[in-house]
Amino acid sequence: MLSVVIPSYNEEQLILNTARTVSDILEKENIPYEILFVDDGSSDQTWEKIQEAASCDSAVRGISFSRNFGKEAAIHAGLTESRGDCTAVMDCDLQHPPQMLPEMYRLWQQGYDLVEGVKRTRGKEGILHKLSAALFYKTIGRSIHMDMSRASDFKLMDRKVVDVLASMPERNAFFRALSSWTGYKKTSVEFDVQERSAGRSKWSTTSLIRYAVKNITSFSSAPMEMVVWAGALMLLFALILGIQSLVRYFSGHALEGFTTVILLILLIGSFIMISLGIIGIYIARIYDEVKARPRYLISGRTTEKGHAGKKTKTDRAE
Ligand code: UDP
Ligand code: MG
Repeated sequence: MLSVVIPSYNEEQLILNTARTVSDILEKENIPYEILFVDDGSSDQTWEKIQEAASCDSAVRGISFSRNFGKEAAIHAGLTESRGDCTAVMDCDLQHPPQMLPEMYRLWQQGYDLVEGVKRTRGKEGILHKLSAALFYKTIGRSIHMDMSRASDFKLMDRKVVDVLASMPERNAFFRALSSWTGYKKTSVEFDVQERSAGRSKWSTTSLIRYAVKNITSFSSAPMEMVVWAGALMLLFALILGIQSLVRYFSGHALEGFTTVILLILLIGSFIMISLGIIGIYIARIYDEVKARPRYLISGRTTEKGHAGKKTKTDRAE
């Protein structure tokens, strides 16, 4: 059976349509499936829509979070809850075309453990967005020695990959990169990023920057290494300037260069602050991991035939 995990946050307009589209496609291809919606603490009618979809179609299930925990947490919950022999993850807004699912499923049947959807084109994006995305993927890609520039969250995984990802203890997981990191036999299929079918993107520029910093620091120590390199460069600079100052001192022109002193203080000051900041970010990450809080809290599940109760009595921590 194929499980399709769909993280959804404020997608009330899309749930029913997405569920129908996905099930139509899979039914036509005779692929046994379940659809698992994860309501990431939406503030609109998303959860009601998921329940409606589940009551119409027994192949649809849903869980809901007590609040918004973010897409990574939603994906993790979906993987943990999925029951299929393989599991696909896709966006609710159909930007990841479900028409690709049968092809990805066939590749899995042929023995691939991980089928990754890679973007043929990156959809509509501003130039600044493109540049920062390129820099971001370069940093992450380097740390796992893979090209991540066209990576997406659209993937189909064998049970063993799902189990590995679901059992990873790290809290700041970055699904897109971690799945490749597992190193199981993988292949990729290209897809064109579609226009969002309704609603709008949940990402603002600030949330994207925060997301990038979080993932880079949880996946790569490159920024810390950069601090070391910057330090080494400064040392070289200091040596040259030091020799020049001494030569000047002994040749009797030592009193010049006040501007240089001001500039140096400013420059070194900023370098030190930035370096401390970078180290601070890593310490914050360590602190987060050490606290080991649950990644998400499940506050509700759709009723299944043969299972009692609409809601679990208490929030369950996973
Ligand atoms: N999403 C989520 N939690 C969040 C933000 C987004 O589960 O906090 C889901 C959202 O419902 C959608 C997917 O993640 O299914 C991608 O989100 P979106 O389309 O807003 O991002 P974009 O396509 O612009 O990268
Ligand atoms: Mg989208």
